[in-house]
Formats: sequence, C-alpha cells, structure tokens
Amino acid sequence: MKEVNVEIDDDRDKVPVWLAGCIHFGGQTHNSRLLDKWLDYDARDKPYIVLMGDMIESALPGHHFSEGVWLQTQNPDEQIETCIDTFKDSDVVAVLRGNHERRIYNISSIDPAKLIAHGLGAAYLGFGGKINFNFKNGLTYSFAVFHGGSSTTNPKSLLDRAHKIYRGFDVLAVAHVHKLYSDVVQELRPDGIHKTYRVCCGSFLGYEQYARERFYEPGIIGNPLIYLYKDKKIISVNTSGFPSEF
Ligand SMILES: [Zn+2]
Repeated sequence: MKEVNVEIDDDRDKVPVWLAGCIHFGGQTHNSRLLDKWLDYDARDKPYIVLMGDMIESALPGHHFSEGVWLQTQNPDEQIETCIDTFKDSDVVAVLRGNHERRIYNISSIDPAKLIAHGLGAAYLGFGGKINFNFKNGLTYSFAVFHGGSSTTNPKSLLDRAHKIYRGFDVLAVAHVHKLYSDVVQELRPDGIHKTYRVCCGSFLGYEQYARERFYEPGIIGNPLIYLYKDKKIISVNTSGFPSEF
C-alpha cells in the first residue's frame, strides 16, 4: 500500500482536510459556482486537500464513447491544465486516479492523475493508499483513501466492501458514486474500542443525463470536510456539502 506522511506544522486547535472527490473539470454539468465557494474557503482556511480521483471529465471517443464527447466544455488536455491551475496555490497532499483519468491511461499509458500530482508537487497514490496526518505532539490520524470502482451507486455498500479489506484506520474514504455520506463503525479490539469514520465524497456535477436515464437519485453537490483535533484524538466529519463555515 502506498503511504504518505503529512507533517502538520500548525497551531490551530483543529485542522480541516478537504476530500476533493469527483470535481470533473470540463464536465457538462460541472458546478463551477459551488467549486468557487469551496476555493474561497480554501484560500481562507487552508485545508489539507486530497484529490480523490475524477478531477477531469475526460470524455473520449472510442471505447468509452458517450455524448459527453460533444458536451464537455474543455478538451481533456485543457481539463488537466485547469485542475493544476486551480490548485497550484493550495495544500494538496496527495492525488488519486479515478476511472475518468483511467480512460486515458488505458488507451495511452499516460496517466493524467500522475501529471496533475507532479504539476502540484503532491504525492501520487494511484488508485488509493494510506495518508498519515502527524501532529507535532505525536498524535497521528491514519486515512485509507480510494477512488473506488464498482457498479453500485450505494455509498454504504462501496464502503462496506472496502472496509472488509482495509481495517483499523481512523478514516476510510472513497469517492466514485457521487454521494455525500458518512458513518462510524466501532470495533472492540484487545486494546479497546477503535472507531473508523467512513466517508464517501460527493461531486461537483449536477444531475447528469445518464443518471436521470438510469433513475439514479440526485446527490448533494459538494465534498466532505474532516476536522482533526490537535490535543486529543477527535474527528469531526461535515457532509453538508456546503459547510456553515463558508
Ligand atoms: Zn466521478
């Protein structure tokens, strides 16, 4: 499992982590107005950011052909550039590859998510990995982060599948299904109760045509924010998509 350590050099009582999933730059229903509000929040409150995959829409002709090829507002090369431009002054600590970046990787071996990670000077975790957020006082929060892939549209079943394999993390996060969701699972272990906060990212897409045609529920737009407390291991998860701090 790929692993990255983030040393938190910060005097705040709690630090925010923005799990930035499924932004889909260039997508037909990409909601840049809401993303701009998140970016205002980013400029002000400086969250640590994990790009959770599907940063770009990447609608292609050929095997993955969809009407998105005609409807996307930028071509994939421009989408990569927009993503790097948007986050170049942010604190992006890691980048994952989603199924939309994989479309380009599959047919060309060129991985747009890796290009984005390199462009931002961030760690590249591929389909997923482990991130340790380490406070100076020795407190560590362990995250397992994955884009996730499956035909399910249910965030809980995607998390249940991931959780069968990846256990013992403080936070287990997936994206892919465009649903904002969180729950907490407690396990009794020899050394006491362990809590895992399980989170599914939303997206910055509106109600896409394919989702309407397949009777998918419209999801809340936006992403989760996770607050990590400095003095004691406390995790607070906000899945409103539009946190009150804004
Ligand atoms: Zn997506």
